[in-house]
Amino acid sequence: MIELARLSRKKAALDCFSQPVIQWFANNGRDFPWRNTKNSYHIFLAEILLRQTQAERVVGPYLRLIERYPTSEALSRASVGNLRKWFRPLGLVRRADQLISGTKLIMSKHGGLIPRSLDALLTLPGLGEYSARAVACLAFGAKVPMIDESSGRLLRRVFNLEPRGPAYCDRQLLEIAEALIPAENARGFNLGLLDIASAYCHHNTPNCLDCPIGKICSYSLNCTSVAEKTPSKLQSSRRSARINVFKQHPRALHKSSQERDTRLNLLHLETEFRNTYARFLFTIL
Ligand code: SF4
Repeated sequence: MIELARLSRKKAALDCFSQPVIQWFANNGRDFPWRNTKNSYHIFLAEILLRQTQAERVVGPYLRLIERYPTSEALSRASVGNLRKWFRPLGLVRRADQLISGTKLIMSKHGGLIPRSLDALLTLPGLGEYSARAVACLAFGAKVPMIDESSGRLLRRVFNLEPRGPAYCDRQLLEIAEALIPAENARGFNLGLLDIASAYCHHNTPNCLDCPIGKICSYSLNCTSVAEKTPSKLQSSRRSARINVFKQHPRALHKSSQERDTRLNLLHLETEFRNTYARFLFTIL
């Protein structure tokens, strides 16, 4: 019985949070060449290049690499010096070493194939906790969370969580994300979180009004960003307009304060409800 209740709460969480993320990604997700392939070698290359580098900067080197070195074997035999020259103008020199030593290990230990397990991926030079998870999910469909600093910030805001170290290894975040991943579409969920974080959930100025998960986000529902978005000039001009009305029509003051109390009560209830809802989502995970 308890299990049944837990399952139905989990389904509610998937419906309310995960499905909007996946739906938004299906319609608005960013398009990069490594997102249009299931080739595990290509995805492995892309994830090494993408570490701490803007995705737009990686497109050119990625396309050149897969054209010049179409397999792990070809790349494992490349000259480190040549590859370094390639990458130097992009500031990615260390990636040249990692790519070659990574593909050498793939050849010697994994028969030329990108390993599927997270543990094996983590032994490859150049892949960290996040990028190994990305390869496991995007190349092999593994139901594992991919949490970087931006999607971690998003989840912390949605569920009102305090940071516990870097997002990629924050166990609490990883557990929440894992519980929210729908079995049938880990890719859409993980990439959706990344892209929503990139499009809306900026460090200083999150755009909660337009965010597709604003309705269930604890941060947004506490009205912080909405209040920040109301220009103070606009607020003061509205205030003086109201004072003028009250001077001319004193009875309006009574009516207005009643309305305001009602509005405040509604706002309070709404915030309470939403906070409870965020806590509810959190406790089921
Ligand atoms: S509603 Fe705002 S704080 Fe919440 S996830 Fe969206 S942008 Fe981030």
